[in-house]
Amino acid sequence: MYISDLFKKDRPAFTFEVFPPKKTSPIESIYGTLDELAKLNPDFISVTYGAGGSYADSKTCKIASDIQEKYGIMSVAHLSCIYNSKEDIDMILEDLKNHGIKNILALRGDKNPDFPIQTDFRYASDLIEYIKEVSGDDFHISGACYPEGHMQAESLEDDIKKLKIKVRAGATHLISQLFFDNTYFYKFQDKARMIGINVPIEAGIMPVSNKSQIERMVWMCGASIPVRLNVILQKYGDKPDDLREAGIEYAINQIEDLLDNGVDGIHLYTMNNPYIAGKITEAVRQML
Ligand code: FAD
Repeated sequence: MYISDLFKKDRPAFTFEVFPPKKTSPIESIYGTLDELAKLNPDFISVTYGAGGSYADSKTCKIASDIQEKYGIMSVAHLSCIYNSKEDIDMILEDLKNHGIKNILALRGDKNPDFPIQTDFRYASDLIEYIKEVSGDDFHISGACYPEGHMQAESLEDDIKKLKIKVRAGATHLISQLFFDNTYFYKFQDKARMIGINVPIEAGIMPVSNKSQIERMVWMCGASIPVRLNVILQKYGDKPDDLREAGIEYAINQIEDLLDNGVDGIHLYTMNNPYIAGKITEAVRQML
């Protein structure tokens, strides 16, 4: 199944993201998590691709393949390009095809001074163009988008103009960066629609469960923390169980508002935590 089929349904999509175990952990360590997440029956599960690491070490393809084969759930393989040459990408596409993967989230990747950048691909749109050129319609291609603008963009408006290049190149579905204030998402979505970006846009939701983790994410992607969330972080920052429950409630409220406002889909950054994903899914199922 391709992601494009998902948006022909008469309800918003509800999808998950997981990350592979660390290089030093065996791949098997994720299967307990997947067993639980699969029971929640998301529309797809996407699997991240380590920044700068080698494809051979990345467990993305194997996990994405198992999500389809073992659990019967559509999967999406993330694939970043700045650390790969065209030859690397040819090999990866072949491997993804051989594993029955039909959906790719095509990304630039974050710049990391520890890894040498290759010169074949500069932007995600270059990768998308290349996949289209060498693989035609074998893959459905998704792209990333940024409700508050990408950290390196001149402005939100400029970032959305660049997003249009990505869509023109062949991305037919977008997944947003995490955000905690829905007004950013609505403003971004309006601006994107105004310049003719008409593909489905899923809203990326990350439940807050750990103060330092959120501080790191915010530092990395620049998401704003609204006052209400800041109060939660101050109040429960040193009480992990309370913070987790408050974070779940915050995410559910965010999702409810997004669904009320006609969002195309919710993409839950599960952080490989089935308990949190389970609580949120239970609430979301009542809303869909
Ligand atoms: P691009 O779309 O290439 O954009 C990067 C910057 O360049 C932006 O500032 C943009 O405005 C600008 N730009 C884009 N196109 C052009 C153009 N044609 N000309 C000039 N400027 C341009 N990273 C990983 O390493 N692995 C993952 O698995 C992963 N998963 C992610 C999932 C989601 C949903 C999101 C939102 C991000 C993910 N990332 C992942 C992070 C991502 O790699 C970084 O955010 C990265 O900095 C940008 O990637 P991009 O594909 O959006 O880049």
